[in-house]
Amino acid sequence: RGKKAFIAGVADDQGFGWAIAKALAEAGAEISLGVWVPALNIFKTSLEKGKFDESRKLSDGSLMTFSHIYPMDAVFDTMADVPEEVATNKRYAGNKAWTVSEVAESVKKDSGNIDILVHSLANGPEVVKPLLEVSRKGYLAALSASSYSLISMVQRFGPLMNEGGAVISLTYNASNRIIPGYGGGMSSAKAALESDTRVLAYEAGRKYKVRVNTISAGPLGSRAAKAIGFIDDMIRYSYENSPIQKELAAIEVGNVAAFLVSPLSSAVTGHVMFVDNGLNTMGLAPD
Ligand code: NAD
Repeated sequence: RGKKAFIAGVADDQGFGWAIAKALAEAGAEISLGVWVPALNIFKTSLEKGKFDESRKLSDGSLMTFSHIYPMDAVFDTMADVPEEVATNKRYAGNKAWTVSEVAESVKKDSGNIDILVHSLANGPEVVKPLLEVSRKGYLAALSASSYSLISMVQRFGPLMNEGGAVISLTYNASNRIIPGYGGGMSSAKAALESDTRVLAYEAGRKYKVRVNTISAGPLGSRAAKAIGFIDDMIRYSYENSPIQKELAAIEVGNVAAFLVSPLSSAVTGHVMFVDNGLNTMGLAPD
């Protein structure tokens, strides 16, 4: 039986979510996506127009396909949480059933149980502001979109997961080390995500017999990262200072994600796995 995966946080072919989809598709999984509502139209249009065909190519020459593509906004759990200005926003109004609980219901209806749950999303509206300047609203928004969203997904998708299934998310070492410029409470959000990974590993491990891990990735020039503004400097810094001197490719993270959701890692849970060319291990910048 091919495994079924649901991946939240894909809106183009540049980020980690897409690369994880690809690695899972290579391994024979059936993939469904949750795409942020405001980005859904352009994603679907680009997909239909063949804009992603080059990056959809699998090693056997076929193109990666998605069994279902759902609109999703991981900041809202049920329709009752959605404020009027969002519900009536024209980018949302044309879509239905995009809160986390409704997406879980749709997935259950369309696919039944799933084996793999991927959280590859983050958002911090004040990411360019240092903590000394971040507002309470901006800080809480970063945690809502980037941390609580994982908890909400495990709450709602956990009951749909087959025993032996696995959850994976993406984090960043700004949780442990000071990364000037990674602001808006995003460093706090990643610290919460990593702590929650451990607690969820225990709670969902006991309740659903699934594993929960997170990958701490090195810098990648994705759309989200470009919004932070200093990604090119981060990529250069990583190249200059890491034990392995090469640029990180998204598929390297995709392949580790495939390992972490496969039986090869059946005893690994609650773990933060670095996929960063080893940058996190350095204590002093080399000459
Ligand atoms: P990306 O832009 O490909 O992915 C982020 C996705 O989140 C986008 O598709 C966006 O539409 C979606 N999103 C934002 N708010 C959402 C919401 N409320 N509901 C649903 N979807 C929402 O960029 P990426 O860099 O691949 O990011 C994926 C993950 O990797 C994030 O957790 C990010 O923090 C993490 N990460 C990125 C880097 C990096 O350098 N790019 C490094 C370490 C960790």
